[in-house]
Amino acid sequence: MISDPEMPNKAREGRFDDIRACIACNQACIGHFHAGYGISCIQNPLTGREAKLPPPARGPSRTILVAGGGPAGMKAAVTAAGRGHRVILCEAGPRLGGQALLAQLLPERAEFGGLITNLEREIAQAGVQVRLNTRVDRALVEALAPDAVIVATGATPYEPPVEGREDGHVTGAWAVLQGSANTGARVLVADWRADWVGMGVAEKLVLDGHSVTLAVDAPHAGFNLQMYLRSHWIARLHRLGVEIVPDARLYGVDGTTAYLMHNVSGEAMPREGVDTVVLATGHASETGLEQALAGIGVPVLLAGDCLSPRSAEEAVHEGFLAGRQV
Ligand SMILES: Cc1cc2nc3c(=O)[nH]c(=O)nc-3n(C[C@H](O)[C@H](O)[C@H](O)COP(=O)(O)OP(=O)(O)OC[C@H]3O[C@@H](n4cnc5c(N)ncnc54)[C@H](O)[C@@H]3O)c2cc1C
Ligand code: SF4
Repeated sequence: MISDPEMPNKAREGRFDDIRACIACNQACIGHFHAGYGISCIQNPLTGREAKLPPPARGPSRTILVAGGGPAGMKAAVTAAGRGHRVILCEAGPRLGGQALLAQLLPERAEFGGLITNLEREIAQAGVQVRLNTRVDRALVEALAPDAVIVATGATPYEPPVEGREDGHVTGAWAVLQGSANTGARVLVADWRADWVGMGVAEKLVLDGHSVTLAVDAPHAGFNLQMYLRSHWIARLHRLGVEIVPDARLYGVDGTTAYLMHNVSGEAMPREGVDTVVLATGHASETGLEQALAGIGVPVLLAGDCLSPRSAEEAVHEGFLAGRQV
């Protein structure tokens, strides 16, 4: 009901596939509650904001180009098309979903992929024209001549400078999930975000047979996650034998040594016997298209991680707002 208030009506009409199924993330419903905010839903930002949102823009049907088929772009496209606009959604990659395609690969997180499935169905029903393997650049915008562009180009991994990186084996969380990392037997995951990525990659690696240390730049692993998921995940990592080092920030590597700094005392905490360091050090906004469209003379709206890397919750919310504004 929080995710799809029309659920009972759709069920009564036998339209079970049309129900926007809850993906059991606990983020914006009970997660908000425990954080002291009104409840909402990461898939349905209207929930909890029904009385607060400004009405959608009024005007004739127009052509809207959405660049980026992650959660922000998908939600923007559905919302704009639902208001009668002709919407073209271009995704540079071969599939819609953006980072949610990676999120669903973490252990026990397959259900998160329902975010993509639900939006894909809504996109098809709303009549959005989807163009995969199509990277939007200034020339394409000029050729399509839309009335507005929604930029939802997301983010890519942020890789901090790591002293001595060339002397050790350093890879990234995305590479581990994409199966291109060639990870050694003893792995240290450098987690600077204390969210899903570090814990999830640590769990995946230990399940794949690696010995894993999770070095978290926060008082504990999952510090930025809501409490149910955090506790459940810490328990799983404990049972699986993942060593968790709190308050630890990676700053260098040298052969099989990873250099950590205690993030409060500033003292060095070198860790011997590390074959591979996996960076889970956050994301950096993809701003190239926004810059390329400067001065193009068409309204350009931004949504999601391209504004600032955060979560699917903000991405969907901002996509929804952009789709209402155009
Ligand atoms: C492993 C992992 C787990 C995560 N788990 C969670 C979680 O449990 N809960 C949560 O809320 N968040 C989670 N996140 C974060 C969440 O997935 C992102 O915040 C969210 O996907 C951002 O959505 P977005 O649409 O703004 O950008 P993205 O998801 O990055 O999508 C951007 C899309 O734009 C495309 N693109 C880029 N440039 C162009 C261009 N010029 N033209 C056309 N297309 C372009 C890209 O190919 C990409 O598909 C996770 C992230 C990762 C990596
Ligand atoms: S925020 Fe997640 S768990 Fe809560 S209702 Fe929405 S989809 Fe379900």
